[in-house]
Amino acid sequence: MSKAQRSRTRESADILIVNAEELLTLAGSSQSPHIGKEMRELGIIRDGALAIRAGKIVAVGKTHDITKAFRGEYVLSAKGKTVLPGFVDPHTHLVFAGSREDEFQMKVEGATFAELLDSGGSILKTAKETKNARMEKLVDLGLERLDTMLAHGTTTVEAKSGYGLTTDDELKILKATKRLNQLHCVGVVSCYMGAHAIPLEYRNSVDEYVQLIVEEGIPRVTDAELAEFCDVFCERGIFNLEQTKRILTAAKNLKLKPKMHADFMCAFGGAEVAAAVGTVSADHLNYASSSGIKAMAEKGVSAVLLPAATFSQMMDKYADARRMIDSGVAVALASGFNSSLCLPNQQLSIAMACHFMRLIPAEAITAATINAAHAVCRAGEVGSLEAGKQADVVILNVPNHKFLGYSVGVNLVEKVICDGRLVLDREKQDEPVFLNKNE
Ligand SMILES: [Zn+2]
Repeated sequence: MSKAQRSRTRESADILIVNAEELLTLAGSSQSPHIGKEMRELGIIRDGALAIRAGKIVAVGKTHDITKAFRGEYVLSAKGKTVLPGFVDPHTHLVFAGSREDEFQMKVEGATFAELLDSGGSILKTAKETKNARMEKLVDLGLERLDTMLAHGTTTVEAKSGYGLTTDDELKILKATKRLNQLHCVGVVSCYMGAHAIPLEYRNSVDEYVQLIVEEGIPRVTDAELAEFCDVFCERGIFNLEQTKRILTAAKNLKLKPKMHADFMCAFGGAEVAAAVGTVSADHLNYASSSGIKAMAEKGVSAVLLPAATFSQMMDKYADARRMIDSGVAVALASGFNSSLCLPNQQLSIAMACHFMRLIPAEAITAATINAAHAVCRAGEVGSLEAGKQADVVILNVPNHKFLGYSVGVNLVEKVICDGRLVLDREKQDEPVFLNKNE
């Protein structure tokens, strides 16, 4: 057969990525997350290739087989490089105004989270600044943050509200979140979190604020179809176990999927409540009990761990990820990006999980891709490189996956393909392009 004939028999693809030193597929876990020893399995193809057409992955395999079956309009060489799914960041507080660098200095000098919150700082300070910002401003700030996340390889982000703390302001944040998902190529998953902090005026009547969330917040959010998830900051001095259950039960009744901030700063029984309610995930879990972890494993509640949040709060105790993995809990990793934690980078979450929680790089990569996709109910679409999935692909300028974790404070991303389009190419330019989905 002549070269021309062979070319005619090959299927066309928009983009071919070929000759990857390691292509991490994370395949085979779209139905249920990797647990236990499975977290070490990345489904690596050496000299790997993949074909992309109309925003989807159409084939994954050895370079020899893929190039025999497909001809690409655009061929990207990944020789000497590592190819993997775009990171999924399953816990961020993306939309807010203002910043908290002054508080950071106070924290360095010894101020605690509770002290800052009690003095009207922390979440309450950001809530004030967010209340005063117009929605357009919040969208602009969100776009900038998504650009930064994308530049570090993240292609799907969960975004919680929670810096509004009145129903109208929470809705403003959720509308901005919806707009961000429309405007930016990064997929944004919306989560309502009116129960992020107790507004000052409800300090002595927390149950009344809970009632407001249950009777007004959740119904208005669901009527306007502005969120898929609902989250509560369950912690001593914030929302107690009963209040958390009440909010999450009301959310479930109106078809919002429940999530929880649990056992972050003290052992509080949060993991047990997450299992009892049947949340999709329980997040933080620094002080989760053995019985809580066991109950989470039994009920299939994912653990979303945030080493960067622990780092930024300068806490000594990280979540016991090893115990969770050994107990069969699906572990995911998130940046926890928020107004006090300016760390929009899942590569650093991976490095911190390796250094402080003793995950091996393969486990941490699983936690930041397919398991993170499960934690936001997107595993059918993203989180692995398999035919039929959305073409969200990252090319790292390193020859194998163990550089993730080993390299700290360096952006390893060379190229990002989002929704089947090359949106970032560091070989050619520093800034992301084609951010608008409608272009
Ligand atoms: Zn959070």
